[in-house]
Amino acid sequence: METNDSLAGRTALVTGASKGIGRAIALAYGQAGAQVGVTGRNEGELESLAAEIRDLGGRCQVVVADLAESDAERRVFEAVTSTLGDVDILVNNAGIGSSANPKPVAEYDDDFWDRMMFVNLTVPYRLCRRVLPAMLAAGWGRIINISSINGKIGALHGAAYAASKHGLLGLTRTLAMEVTARGVTANAICPGPVATALNDARIAYDAQRLGRPVAEVERGLTLIGRRLQAEEVVPLALYLAGDASAAMTGQALNIDGGIVMTG
Ligand code: NAP
Repeated sequence: METNDSLAGRTALVTGASKGIGRAIALAYGQAGAQVGVTGRNEGELESLAAEIRDLGGRCQVVVADLAESDAERRVFEAVTSTLGDVDILVNNAGIGSSANPKPVAEYDDDFWDRMMFVNLTVPYRLCRRVLPAMLAAGWGRIINISSINGKIGALHGAAYAASKHGLLGLTRTLAMEVTARGVTANAICPGPVATALNDARIAYDAQRLGRPVAEVERGLTLIGRRLQAEEVVPLALYLAGDASAAMTGQALNIDGGIVMTG
């Protein structure tokens, strides 16, 4: 694997880095020369990612944490900053998917709503709040929130997911208004269906609901006739983390195989 130094000297924190989109982004940041703090619940997967980053000559710190626990984001922040220093690039990626506990709103489950909103929206807000003082003091920072096209359109039987991802865009846009003049940008990436464990569950749910084969449902989802690969989100995440994106802020960028064509 080729390496470059476009993020040399930077420290990144990527949540939900054990698998899927977060793993691909964390690996790419390590490859680009950043020190990377990675967190998730699955220690084995995180350690295997860390080993890959170290094999590239990079520095990586693993913090195992369940972000559904009320104090976990503080522990993650303190563990990463005490070892790697201030965070320059925050990627709020960890999330519960739209087909976890799918139900129409009329039959929704309050506890599940609260957990989804906490992991998908409150934890990103809290991590932003924790990393911002150092970013503002340094006059440089990058906040990248992994929202979804469901931050712009509904998710059938996934109201908490859609609400949390819409909320993440409100957080992103407001942050951009508050911090951009001081060298910190805030942007959101809005992926369409990406072939990960989280989206496997969504497709299986839709296929079962519609009584159609999974492969047929998948082909019909996007204009490209397939789901995205996690690696296809990486170039955008690299761009938003670097110096070249200084003029890009407050944006919610779709990368979705052509599903959502408006804003
Ligand atoms: P994934 O492969 O299933 O990965 C999800 C990640 O989130 C894992 O690293 C998981 O960690 C972590 N996570 C979930 N709950 C957590 C918790 N309570 N505490 C700590 N970590 C937790 O899914 P993905 O598709 O890459 O999803 C990443 C992000 O992209 C999510 O925010 C998702 O909403 C968003 N997204 C995905 C798609 C898609 O189609 N795949 C589309 C739009 C947006 P462990 O497994 O280690 O617990």
